[in-house]
Amino acid sequence: MTISDSLVEWFAENARSLPWRTDPRDAYRTLVSEIMLQQTQVDRVTPRFVEFVHRWPDLKALAAASEDDVLSVWSGLGYYRRARLLHRLAREVVESGRDRLPQDIEGLRALPGIGDYTAAAVGSLAFGLEAPVLDGNVERVVARMTAFGGNPRTSIAQTRMKSWVRKLFPGHHPGVVNEALMELGATVCMPSRPRCEACPLAFECKGHEAGRPVEYPPPRKVRETEHLRWVAACIVGPDGRWLLRRVQEGPILRGLWLPPLADLEAQADPVGVAMGLTPEGLMVECGAVSGAVRHHITHRRIEVVPVLMHVLHTDFPAAMWQWSRPGEVIGGTSSLFEKLHKAIEINEKKHQ
Ligand code: SF4
Repeated sequence: MTISDSLVEWFAENARSLPWRTDPRDAYRTLVSEIMLQQTQVDRVTPRFVEFVHRWPDLKALAAASEDDVLSVWSGLGYYRRARLLHRLAREVVESGRDRLPQDIEGLRALPGIGDYTAAAVGSLAFGLEAPVLDGNVERVVARMTAFGGNPRTSIAQTRMKSWVRKLFPGHHPGVVNEALMELGATVCMPSRPRCEACPLAFECKGHEAGRPVEYPPPRKVRETEHLRWVAACIVGPDGRWLLRRVQEGPILRGLWLPPLADLEAQADPVGVAMGLTPEGLMVECGAVSGAVRHHITHRRIEVVPVLMHVLHTDFPAAMWQWSRPGEVIGGTSSLFEKLHKAIEINEKKHQ
């Protein structure tokens, strides 16, 4: 039996049932799932995906949605830039007079937010194009199969790996081959504990044969951790709702609704900085400073000091602000809001 026959047969018997794996494959659903799955795990993506495609079943419906609604359904998946780009993509396709995705790699690649990976994934899975898909899982399988000890991210390595995958296409649907390799990497050829005894490719695997599969590929250099310290002005109205502002700038959290935030220098007074974040026309009484909340975004470790403020009297334009509680935010937010809410609640209880 050849590697590709063994792989495809294994996939037919072992593929997880996932809501985007429809028969036949739907290009729009494939696109949504591929974008959601970038940097987010399957079990977190699944319920969001179901909600997303239920609400917007095609590109036309997504194009007609407001960005706030899209970010709101995306909540919990993180990396909101992906949601914004997906929304922009839908609008661009629909505004150009089409209601379907282009069926060639160049056309897909020209759309907002679509890189080589997504174009190859959608192109092969939905349209049967012979485009190898290299995600971290596939790179690991190929590196182990070929005992490739170099960095899989270099362009030479990528070309070699793609050509290895391409050799598996003849006689099979390229999308099935790609997806089977991804599935094998996710469920059998795992990073630290490959289950070689259950692997359909073990008979041809050089890494396994050498007895050291986990040495392939070599570990990636870890990005240096950045430590940040912020203050959050936790402005609470008489009915318990919090005042949120849309984050306008910066490399992270942009576009999300959160309590006003600012950098907090080591020696700075959190209350003074938080007071400076209150909007003009809003009178507040300063409450307690709670213990810092820890929040991680990729390589950033953020310590956020919550400062409680009770509203005494309000008279300010509400545009760009909203009053809300966790779970009720109109538009996208971050789990940081819930963490701050909990920190204030715990602190209040302690001092009752
Ligand atoms: S035999 Fe082991 S190392 Fe090789 S591809 Fe299969 S699980 Fe991975």
